Amino acid sequence: MRTPTLETNVSLRSYNTFGIDAHARLFARFASAEELRALLQLPDVQQAEKLILGGGSNLLFTKDFEGVVLKNEIRGLEITEEDTASGTALVRAGAGESWHGLVQFALDQDLSGIENLSLIPGTVGAAPLQNIGAYGAELQDTFEYLEAMEISTGAVRTFDRAACGFGYRESVFKGPLKNQFIVTSVVFRLLREARLNVSYGAIATTLQDMGIDTDPTPRQVSEAIISIRRSKLPDPAEIGNAGSFFKNPELSQHKYDELKVAYPDLPGYPVPGGVKVPAAWLIEHSGWKGHRRGDYGVHDRQALVLVNHGAARGADIQALAYEIIASVRAKFGVELHPEVNIM
Ligand SMILES: Cc1cc2nc3c(=O)[nH]c(=O)nc-3n(C[C@H](O)[C@H](O)[C@H](O)COP(=O)(O)OP(=O)(O)OC[C@H]3O[C@@H](n4cnc5c(N)ncnc54)[C@H](O)[C@@H]3O)c2cc1C
Repeated sequence: MRTPTLETNVSLRSYNTFGIDAHARLFARFASAEELRALLQLPDVQQAEKLILGGGSNLLFTKDFEGVVLKNEIRGLEITEEDTASGTALVRAGAGESWHGLVQFALDQDLSGIENLSLIPGTVGAAPLQNIGAYGAELQDTFEYLEAMEISTGAVRTFDRAACGFGYRESVFKGPLKNQFIVTSVVFRLLREARLNVSYGAIATTLQDMGIDTDPTPRQVSEAIISIRRSKLPDPAEIGNAGSFFKNPELSQHKYDELKVAYPDLPGYPVPGGVKVPAAWLIEHSGWKGHRRGDYGVHDRQALVLVNHGAARGADIQALAYEIIASVRAKFGVELHPEVNIM
């Protein structure tokens, strides 16, 4: 085990995909549960506010972080169990592995179930926090259990799917257990016989454009999704952003019907208890798409994404987000909520 060291006054610019130049008063990396436990026992760490950092792809720093940033670098990808009766295998991933690396590992092992989540940035350990989702799939569909260390005791606890309380971009770790546990590994149950979902969005037409008309493989579905995402979403390596800044709001059927009279083009997707509406549509129809103020603004092709064109301050992006929320509320009477963690 390495002896964990604490660095001081570390720039976080290269550790968040928005590219915001905030500083952490204290900063340390851990590559195993033992290293993490040792760090948590240091008096400086015990007394400080803690931020667990994965890939920094769902964070907006609005000021320097006066506590300790703990960067998760726990690696490891392995098949731990093969269940021939159900045609599934359990795959365990260290929480510091890249999410897309896990998707590629699964495809290399002829396992399917997470191909629709290809190219989502960030780490495996952060993925359960907001039950990442895209193209008709969510993490919870293949999730088996995770291990997490309790910050106050250093004890490792196992959480199965029920204990995680997954919802739309939600889990118990963003709610009642917020800031209490650090995810150290996640186990997924993946399929030997692929059951592909190509019905969502442009997957089927993209596969056709790729010359694949029938029976795509999981890897081909993954490639189609990578191609769609690259054409739609700004690459954080080129323009700072954290993907969708807002969640898609869920309205009651009554509220949706009311809006639909005034705005017949308003899209909506039935969900239990109501209708989910694309926040991008509401933001675009409030006039924000492509809006730019100096170094920050709203992306010109995807209204859900706020961007840093260069040296934006996180506080300015936050203020813009709240202006957008207020204008959508004033125009549609709908409340938007940030998906990004604002620090
Ligand atoms: C271009 C782009 C596209 C995106 N597309 C999608 C998408 O399609 N679907 C989607 O769901 N998300 C998407 N996101 C958001 C983001 O990729 C996910 O939320 C991802 O899971 C964040 O992982 P991370 O490691 O970067 O987390 P970070 O940003 O480092 O952290 C996010 C939160 O999780 C906490 N955290 C991180 N690791 C741990 C841990 N091990 N234990 C406990 N807490 C932890 C942090 O403290 C923080 O509160 C996108 C982001 C970008 C930039």
